[in-house]
Formats: sequence, structure tokens, C-alpha cells
Amino acid sequence: MVDPETKLCALLGNPVSHSGSPAMHNAAFQATGRNAKYLAFAVTADQLPAAIRGLLALGAAGANVTVPHKEQALRLADQSTERAQKTGAANVLTFRDGQVIADNTDGIGFVQSLREAGTEIRDRTVVVIGAGGAARAVVWACLDQGARRIFLLNRTVERAQELARVVAPDTEDRDRIQVASLAEPGTALSQGDIIINATSLGLRADDPSPLRDWTAVPDHAVAVDLIYAPHVTAFLAAAQERGLPTVDGQGMLVWQAAYSWQAWFGELGPAGVMAAALQAWLNSR
Ligand code: NDP
Repeated sequence: MVDPETKLCALLGNPVSHSGSPAMHNAAFQATGRNAKYLAFAVTADQLPAAIRGLLALGAAGANVTVPHKEQALRLADQSTERAQKTGAANVLTFRDGQVIADNTDGIGFVQSLREAGTEIRDRTVVVIGAGGAARAVVWACLDQGARRIFLLNRTVERAQELARVVAPDTEDRDRIQVASLAEPGTALSQGDIIINATSLGLRADDPSPLRDWTAVPDHAVAVDLIYAPHVTAFLAAAQERGLPTVDGQGMLVWQAAYSWQAWFGELGPAGVMAAALQAWLNSR
């Protein structure tokens, strides 16, 4: 039901038609009896400032921001959390007391999805493949969680170097990150406890795995793909063939949404309800 008290939450991105966020949040509003609705808006970059100020003026509770607006959303906010600053991007905006507050819950969502799968990051060596926005949130989260070492492998090495410089300005953190080319990973793979695909390679069903040779990967390693559809990417299929446990990106998507509620409403969203709604939405596509 919608009435004059109904609170608005929004997704701002372009495109947004592929997003499972409305299904997750609206199912969670219904399950918890919260009087709110979540709507997705396709917004161009030049209209993003007006869209954000418009939501603030309308008294919206909050918004999620997705590709390609996460960096610009951070710059447009009045305040931001430390984790949003460190990741250089905002996936959550909260509208409070006439102010726009930017946060980033992708990193904590990633941590929580691993925890749910029985994997802790503390003292582990993590291999992150990719150096885009998602990789940045993951690297920040791994530093924050006390990873022993992070190998950052990317097709374009300069982009990985830049990521390391921005996400780890302190020497102590920077020393925990080692950058290498994806084509020449050196000894990185043989030291990895957790191997993560944070590239966009795998989004299409016929995409190959960014990691071609799995022979050096230890038998105890866990393989994680941030992509949530398709459910089993070529990267995860190769890991399964190698006998490794795998984690896909659905949990990260669910938990970033659950933590968005913490920013908007002061309490964590119901992750179980959100996960079921996401699964139903994926099945219906
Ligand atoms: P970006 O476009 O910012 O970065 C893409 C990355 O993929 C770059 O490192 C790029 O390398 C690499 N890449 C692209 N094509 C290839 C290729 N053919 N071979 C090797 N590397 C390649 O994307 P994002 O960081 O925003 O997103 C990455 C993935 O994470 C997406 O698939 C997205 O769906 C997923 N994601 C999942 C979330 C979740 O909640 N589960 C949240 C956010 C993202 P280079 O620098 O050399 O171009």
C-alpha cells in the first residue's frame, strides 16, 4: 500500500533495468511492515546532481547508486563516511537534516558474504583480479579486515598501481599490497588463500575466465566471483573443476543492500528475505 506517509528509496544508475535491488528492498519492506517503496531511476550523468537534490527535497529516506555514478555521487554528497572516501565511491546516499550523506557498503557486503560462507579474511593472503570500482571496495575491505597480504592482478598494471596508491595511502597498508600483471602473476597465485574475480569478465554467459591457469593455486584456496548473474561463471566453473569451494556475488549484493538499511533506518535489513527475493527475481528473468 502507498499512503501519504510512504517513504521513498531510490536506485540511481544507468541502465537500471538489469537491477535486482527493487525486488530485494520491496520484499524486505513488505516482510518487515516498513512503509516504504523502492523505485529505480535511469539517470544520465549530467542529471545526477538534480536527481540527488530532488530526492533530498522530496524527503526521500535514501538511495543506492550504481554504475556509472558511484564516484560522482560521492563528490556530490555533503558528508561521507571514511569507507566511502577510501573506496572513492558511494553506493549508498542517506538524506538527513537537509544533508546528503554518502556511504559505501560494497566492501562490508563482500566481507559479510564471505563470513556467511565460512571464510574470514584476517591473516589471509588474498589475490584480487581486477582494478575497477568493485576491486577497490574489496581491497579496502581486505585491508580493513586485517588481510596479511593482497596481490592485486590486473590486465592494465598502471590501473592496479593507482588503485593501491589511493586505497592505501599509509605505508603500513601499502606494504601489504603487491601489484602485478594478470598475464605475469609471479608467485601470487601459489600464496593465495582467497582468489577473487573482481573483473567484469564473466558478465556474459560465454565470457572466458580471467584466470586461465589454476595449477599454482593451493588446494585449500577459496574462489570468489563478484558477479552474481550468471550464477556460475567460467571462473567459478574452473575453480569447481579444480575441487575448490566457491562463493558467487549474490551474497555481496544482498549484504550491501542489508547494510544500506543500516544507513537509512538505523537497523540492518533482513538479509534472508532479500536473498530469497533476489533468487526469485533471477529465476524469473
Ligand atoms: P570496472 O569497469 O570498473 O572494472 C572492470 C575490471 O575488469 C577492470 O579491472 C578491467 O581491466 C577488467 N577487465 C575487463 N575486461 C577484461 C578482460 N577481457 N580481461 C581481463 N580483465 C578485464 O567494473 P566494476 O569494478 O564496477 O565491476 C566489476 C565486476 O564486479 C562487475 O562484473 C560487476 O557486476 C561486479 N560487481 C558486483 C557487485 C556485487 O554486489 N556482487 C558490486 C559491484 C560490482 P582493465 O583495467 O585492464 O581494463
